[in-house]
Amino acid sequence: STVTAQAKTYQIGTDVTYPPFEFANKQNKYVGIDIDIMNAVAKEEGFKVNIKPVGFNAAVQSVQSGQLDGVIAGMTITPERKAKFDFGTPYYKTGVVMAVGKNSDIKSFKQLKGKRVALKTGTAAADYANSIKKKYGFKTVTFDDSNNMYEDVTTGNSVACFEDQPVMQYGIKQGLKLKIVSSPANTGWYGFAVKKGQNTELRKKFNQGLKKIQANGTYDKIVGKYLGNKT
Ligand code: GLN
Repeated sequence: STVTAQAKTYQIGTDVTYPPFEFANKQNKYVGIDIDIMNAVAKEEGFKVNIKPVGFNAAVQSVQSGQLDGVIAGMTITPERKAKFDFGTPYYKTGVVMAVGKNSDIKSFKQLKGKRVALKTGTAAADYANSIKKKYGFKTVTFDDSNNMYEDVTTGNSVACFEDQPVMQYGIKQGLKLKIVSSPANTGWYGFAVKKGQNTELRKKFNQGLKKIQANGTYDKIVGKYLGNKT
């Protein structure tokens, strides 16, 4: 006979809104590629998750301080973060792009001189923008979530923002009045993260489950549900 262990519940932090990876649907339920992956993996591996949409930076900080067990939030695996977090298997490709207003004439970083650029706190895109800020002479303003950052550009307060390519592309397709004007920089991958040296069992279960849902078609089904089937 089999002994059924009590299913463990893990507290998982995520962004407030980062479509198509996480967002509240019309029923105010959190859905998206990340959320569906997490739920599918949990089901596959027999654990429970409590999804906490606290915002990207807050989720990252909360895992760092041990208040949350893990973060799935379109989080880019970077060398700096690897010093503080253990990442699961990379699951989605990304890169940083610059976006400007739909009718803007700005096409290059050079045209940002003396202008204001909107960034999102604690993100890989903000790190990238800050790394070229001095060279191109622009000013920055930061926001805690992507929507407020986009709005600063669409209202004309800022002339540009820096965001992950898959997220920016999706948002524009959904009607955001922005356009992408640079090719992806600092390309990398999204990964599920736990605090370094902590929650090893959770990370291992995540990897096992991810492998299973990639093999059985669930992963492709999830991505296809939000992005349409790619060729
Ligand atoms: N991929 C970016 C990062 O890891 C942004 C993530 C997000 O805004 N949710 O910093």
